[in-house]
Amino acid sequence: MMNLILFGAPGCGKGTQAQRLKEHYGIRHVSTGEVIREEIARDTELGREMEQYIRAGQLVPDEVVIGMVADYVAEHGRSGGCIFDGFPRTTRQAEEFDRILAEHGLKVDLMIDIRVPEEELVRRILLRGRDSGREDDASEEVVRDRIAVYRRQTAVVADFYAGQGKYVGVDGVGTMDEVFDRIRAAVDSRV
Ligand code: AMP
Repeated sequence: MMNLILFGAPGCGKGTQAQRLKEHYGIRHVSTGEVIREEIARDTELGREMEQYIRAGQLVPDEVVIGMVADYVAEHGRSGGCIFDGFPRTTRQAEEFDRILAEHGLKVDLMIDIRVPEEELVRRILLRGRDSGREDDASEEVVRDRIAVYRRQTAVVADFYAGQGKYVGVDGVGTMDEVFDRIRAAVDSRV
């Protein structure tokens, strides 16, 4: 049983690497961004509210995302481990996440921070936006805002896990295979 956080700025390759880690270790994968996009696609009241934030490149309010993750952990938390992708994104989310996991006798084992320079992030997201149909990937202005939000509100979450001795940074520049090998080596040596 292993709970991993895949961390890094938008466009660092979290989604791609999460899929590979999921297959390699046979554990679950949950992306809060995907859960939110599904809620928007269902056109619920909550979905419509969250769409405003996503469109503007801003974070959805903590309580909404924390509630989603609490539900997920209650349902799947004890079934073999999970990769959390895109969560936690604020210190408050990280604190609440520890509490939620502890309620189920669980913990975070490792945070993997995929590090990529800003210009490369922007290039990758705009490229992805051509095929993904994600509105928040299509505009350079929104992409840069998302990266700024990451630096302002999210980057500090790395310190939270570093303080617990659970942080590892990996170089996210290279082929998908190269980055995957670095992540796998980090997980195998630390967990
Ligand atoms: P992502 O798919 O991880 O790039 O997330 C897309 C968007 O969903 C973000 O720009 C935020 O608006 C929202 N989002 C995803 N995860 C979170 C989170 N943990 N906290 C707040 N907002 C989030």
